[in-house]
Amino acid sequence: MNDFSDDPSADLDDLEIDSLANPKPAPPSDAEEEALDDFDDLENLLGEAMELKATADKVKAARAKAKSGFGNTPEDLERIRRWELANEWKPVANVALFKRYVCACGKHSTVFEGMMLEQIGRYNPRNKRWTAFVEGQVMNADLTKRTAIRRMEVPMCPVCLPEQGFSLADGLEWTA
Ligand SMILES: [Zn+2]
Repeated sequence: MNDFSDDPSADLDDLEIDSLANPKPAPPSDAEEEALDDFDDLENLLGEAMELKATADKVKAARAKAKSGFGNTPEDLERIRRWELANEWKPVANVALFKRYVCACGKHSTVFEGMMLEQIGRYNPRNKRWTAFVEGQVMNADLTKRTAIRRMEVPMCPVCLPEQGFSLADGLEWTA
């Protein structure tokens, strides 16, 4: 107590109450030991619960990732593609997809973009979709052949660019 009484800011009332409430540190009784054990158990349980929650969150995140298509291996995606074709979509045509660049001068040029597989829904034939051929995919000879053209408007083309002061003869090869 001498240490405190030297301090002019010490509140004597508080010091008295503190010393009454905690006369001296005593070793914990059996009941207190038990309570402390219970507390440890509770802490352990809480720790385990939080670990479980963390694991559950990780699984949830992994599932969401798989659902979004990321996180799936190319083999998984190929399996999904085959399953969809066998169960949900019926292939109806091989479609050669072209892009047509229509110039402001009136000329146009048409460039092959790739092969697409046209499909209709097995449950609702009014549903249609087109998927690009994957590497190594060959045309189904039983299906009809169609073309599709995507149109894009452009401000100049090889025909009219000399009029606009440009030349393809000295064109740089763009590798970026
Ligand atoms: Zn043009």
